[in-house]
Amino acid sequence: MMKFNVDERGYYGEYGGAYIPEMMYPNVKELQDNYLKILDDEIFRKEFSLLLRDYAGRPSPLYYAGRLSAYHNTNIYLKREDLNHTGAHKINNTIGQILIAKRLGKTRIIAETGAGQHGVATATVCALMGLKCFVYMGKLDVERQAPNVLRMKMLGAEVIPVTSGNMTLKDAANEAIRDWISNPVDTHYIIGSVVGPHPYPDLVARLQSVISEEIKWQLTEHIGKENPDYIIACVGGGSNAAGSFYHYLDNEDVKLVAVEAAGKGINSGKSAATMVLGSPGVIHGSRTILMQNEDGQITEPYSVSAGLDYPGIGPLFAWLYKMKRVTFDNATDTEALEAAFLLTRLEGIIPALESAHALAILGKMKFKKDDIVVVTISGRGDKDMAAYMKYLGESDYKNI
Ligand SMILES: *Cc1c(COP(=O)(O)O)cnc(C)c1O
Repeated sequence: MMKFNVDERGYYGEYGGAYIPEMMYPNVKELQDNYLKILDDEIFRKEFSLLLRDYAGRPSPLYYAGRLSAYHNTNIYLKREDLNHTGAHKINNTIGQILIAKRLGKTRIIAETGAGQHGVATATVCALMGLKCFVYMGKLDVERQAPNVLRMKMLGAEVIPVTSGNMTLKDAANEAIRDWISNPVDTHYIIGSVVGPHPYPDLVARLQSVISEEIKWQLTEHIGKENPDYIIACVGGGSNAAGSFYHYLDNEDVKLVAVEAAGKGINSGKSAATMVLGSPGVIHGSRTILMQNEDGQITEPYSVSAGLDYPGIGPLFAWLYKMKRVTFDNATDTEALEAAFLLTRLEGIIPALESAHALAILGKMKFKKDDIVVVTISGRGDKDMAAYMKYLGESDYKNI
């Protein structure tokens, strides 16, 4: 991936960088100086790929969805990240980062989480490695996401409810940053997406790039060539999309489509479609596109899916959008819910609500009969049963 690679200063064109308080500089510098060396190290690579195989369950299958293909009159392959241990792509990143943390001699791990998916993936690898784990989570999210809070506790993590700001994801991230500044020596901060100061966007994209590495050989097994016509993935911060696109970025024959959450509609005031509603600015340590008001204050995003409910987007995507390498689309709550039921009834696969956004645009796109379309199913829908049952009109259903 040459053309869209980050430069030495951590920029993708005009986006990226490391906009951080001076006090955080030593922590970030240590990672900047070491991450590429570690990723390239043979022992690291061996440990990482063994854990991906034996612990996370990779490779995740690339499944030809016959009935969904017939429905949309094209050829649809699903990249099954939902079958990974802990139920989503996030484990790829946390396994990689915990190995890096150990290399750097860290004994204490912190993370931020919104819906709790990244918190669970982090708590999981901390249990695996016997490291202390502290997860910052907005108080509102702690209340909304009880099952994941319980999972983290069972895994031995301490969940710290954050009461500042709106008590959601961005406040949790701010609090994690504060912790890191106070604990620079023994602590590693595992960021959950391709966001944050350099080197996180590049680091997380590389760790998730195993997704497109596998798509290449799996598609060759299926159809005798490694290039599909389209790859479609949902975007919150952008890590499952970055992983799905990574090894195809330089290959312009493959059309890449990123799908954001439109919430109740782009102009409803309740949306998370950053690329449509956002403008350049700095969020969580990098220059990117974000949703903000005229005073530069972040506006609260909304989506039925907690994983897409983020007011920014990774700087790589701001750049890929500007360079016209990735096409952006979006899907509303209702469109995503419908798409989730359609996949479930046609294929017997209950997707995460986030992934359902990627599925939702299949009906809106114009495919040829012989097109090859890969859709990344970033996670499984167990966590979303309450929302699905509410949609079915059984709102007394409880997701525990
Ligand atoms: C967290 C999450 C997302 C959104 O995060 P990205 O970094 O954009 O991938 C998407 N799908 C699932 C299942 C998630 O848990």
